[in-house]
Amino acid sequence: MAAKLLVGNWKMNGRAGDARGCVTALASELGMESGVATVICPPFPLLPEAAAAAEGTAVGVGAQDCHHAASGAHTGDVAAPLLADAGCGHVIVGHSERRADHGETDDTVRAKAQAAAAAGLAPVVCVGETAAERGRAETEAVLVRQIERGLPAALPHGGAVAYEPVWAIGTGVTPDAEAIASAMRTVDRCVRERLGEAGAECVRLLYGGSVKPANAGELWPIDGVDGFLVGGASLKPDSMLAIARAAP
Ligand code: PEP
Repeated sequence: MAAKLLVGNWKMNGRAGDARGCVTALASELGMESGVATVICPPFPLLPEAAAAAEGTAVGVGAQDCHHAASGAHTGDVAAPLLADAGCGHVIVGHSERRADHGETDDTVRAKAQAAAAAGLAPVVCVGETAAERGRAETEAVLVRQIERGLPAALPHGGAVAYEPVWAIGTGVTPDAEAIASAMRTVDRCVRERLGEAGAECVRLLYGGSVKPANAGELWPIDGVDGFLVGGASLKPDSMLAIARAAP
C-alpha cells in the first residue's frame, strides 16, 4: 500500500467523458512509483467509465456512498457489492454532506463501512466537527465519538479515516497546522484503540477541507497526515497532479 493517499470527491459534479479524461490524465502522470496513490470518486453513473479508464493503471476508483444492506427494497440506493462489481476499490462513507442532508448517524456510518468491508472495499470514513462544535471546544469529543461509534471493529481490506472539519469544506479556510496535527493525534489514537495496532497500520489518515495546489505544500508535512480527501480541486486533473507533486 502506498504510504500516501489522495482521494478526489467529485460530489454531484461531472458529466459523461469527464471521469475518463481525468483518470487518463492522472494515470499518465502518476505511475506506481510516485508514492502517492490516487482514487477518484465520481457520481455513480460515471463509475464504469472511470473504472474502465483506470484498469491497469495506478489510479483507483471509488464511490461516494453505499447502502448498509447488500441488496433489498431500498429505492435509489446502491449496495456495496454492486460498487465492487463496477470496479470500485474504495467508498466514502459518513461525509458531512450525507450526515447533514440525509440524517446519517454514526451508527449508519458504521453499518455502511461494515457493508463496504464485507464487499471487499476500503471505506473512507469521514469525521469532523461543525463550526458550532469547534466554537464550544468540542472537536476532540466529536472525533472520539464519531470514530468509536462510526468505525467498524475490523477493516479487512484497509481503508481511511478522513478528518474533515465541516467549516473548512468548500470555504477556502483551513485550520492551522497545529490544530490539524492535534486532531490527527486524536484520530490516530482512536483508530488504534478501535482496530488494534495491526489493523490501524492498514488505515490511512487523511485531512480534508479546502485542500488545493496553493496550500498542499504546507499541509503535506503536518504530523499524522497520510494524504487528503479533496473536493473542489479534484475536478481538475492538473490540480490533483499539483497536490500529489507537492508531497514531500
Ligand atoms: C469534501 O467535500 O470532502 C472536501 C474536502 O471539499 P473541498 O476540498 O472542496 O473543501
